Amino acid sequence: MNDTIRTVNCPGCGKPVAWQAQSRYRPFCSARCRQLDLGAWASEAYRVPTSPPDGDSAGGGDHHAPGDTEGR
Ligand SMILES: [Zn+2]
Repeated sequence: MNDTIRTVNCPGCGKPVAWQAQSRYRPFCSARCRQLDLGAWASEAYRVPTSPPDGDSAGGGDHHAPGDTEGR
């Protein structure tokens, strides 16, 4: 069996990266991609979408406006 090395896609550029000891920047293909991703990650590190609000600004979340829209 020659095909035991699995590859992952670099989150930075999408290039396939061999998942092995030599790939020290895995899952990134290079230090550069890792830097880029870390930078992007750090900017929104504290914006973890725990639970997506389902219409929190409307109060009800329904599209049925209790008004005089039944004029038909
Ligand atoms: Zn990359």
